[in-house]
Order: sequence, then C-alpha cells, then structure tokens
Amino acid sequence: MPRARCNVCCNAVMSCICKWTSPIFNQTNIVLLQHSDEVKKPLGTAKIVSLCLQNALVKVGVDFSTDVDFDRLMNFPNQNLAMLYPSESALELHSWRNRKPDTEEEKQTETVPKTLIVLDGTWRNTREIMNVNPALKNLPAVKLTPTIQSNYRIRKAPFADSLSTVEAVSQALNILEPETSVDAMSLSFQHMIDYQINRMGEDVYLRNYVQPPSLQD
Ligand SMILES: [Zn+2]
Repeated sequence: MPRARCNVCCNAVMSCICKWTSPIFNQTNIVLLQHSDEVKKPLGTAKIVSLCLQNALVKVGVDFSTDVDFDRLMNFPNQNLAMLYPSESALELHSWRNRKPDTEEEKQTETVPKTLIVLDGTWRNTREIMNVNPALKNLPAVKLTPTIQSNYRIRKAPFADSLSTVEAVSQALNILEPETSVDAMSLSFQHMIDYQINRMGEDVYLRNYVQPPSLQD
C-alpha cells in the first residue's frame, strides 16, 4: 500500500514539514527554477521556500522555453531582475541591491520590486539548466559571499561552502530586505534536518553524511 502523503508538502505524513512552516511576507519576487531531478528528493529544501514565502514562484523542469512566466521574465528584463548564480561576472548581491539606475528607462523601473531567479538542484543540474536555457546567460548574475557554514548536514554538499537552496534564499533576503525576518524558514530547515537525523539514527548519519574535517575547511 502506498504511504499516505501530505497534500500540501507532498512528503510522507510522518515527515510532513508543514507543521514547522509559517508565512513570510517578502517583497522580493523569488522565482525558483527547480530541476526535475530535484523534485523527487525527499530532503529538497525548495519546499520550505515555497511553503513559507508568500512571494515565490516555483517552476519545475529543465527546458523552460515554453513556460509563460519564464518567457515574460526573459523578454521584459529590467534592472530589477537578476539571477543568483556564481558566474565569473557575478556581482556581489550587496552591490546589486545598492546599484543606482544609469538610464531614464532604468529610473522608471526603480520602484518595481526586485525579482531574483534561483536555480534549485545539484551543480550538474544547474549547469544543465543554464545550457538548455541560454537566455539565462544574458541576465545579470549575483552571488553571495558565504557567511555561514551550511547547516545542510544530510545531503553531501559538493563544496563545503555551498548552501542549500533554503539557506541561499534566506541569506539573499537578509541582504535585499533586512527588515523581513526569515526565521520561519531557518527553523523549518533545522527541524527537517533534526527529524531526518533522528530517523536514520546517529550512527548512520555519522558514517554516511559527516564529511571529514579536512573537507570542511
Ligand atoms: Zn505537509
């Protein structure tokens, strides 16, 4: 018999994360482009983002070229649209936030809320999304300077300083709109991890998921 699932977060009822989430009324539009492979992962953190943030849009796929919302974003870009992606030309997010408009056209869009596109998936997944949707390469890219060690103790991070999606979005919102508390997302994330570690048992966790200290530096 299939396991009963929560209608909202789609997790098995036992590991439903809804009880830990609460609404965050953010100003910045967060658009998550989630790789299809990521959807099936039980420990994906995009769900926390979409359950908490009242201003978030999640698109699932690899090729987004036929998606109406994606098309609108790519065809009407303005200075308030950027993508969180650590490309070589990426600006620090602080600099993007404080950037002053250069042209008349840009001045007109200055009051439009910012839109930040965030890719959700492994490094390989996100590279694939970039390659399949070349329009993304034309967007201004912004990056975060890691200030916290990822708390993502369950899935092995490709790099010690890489953040989970929920941590990256939280950090970005802290910079873009410091007046908005993102504690609800951090708490949900913490609960989700603690619950999973509890469930698999400390031994399994230590054996399979803790990186040797040399890799964490
Ligand atoms: Zn749920």
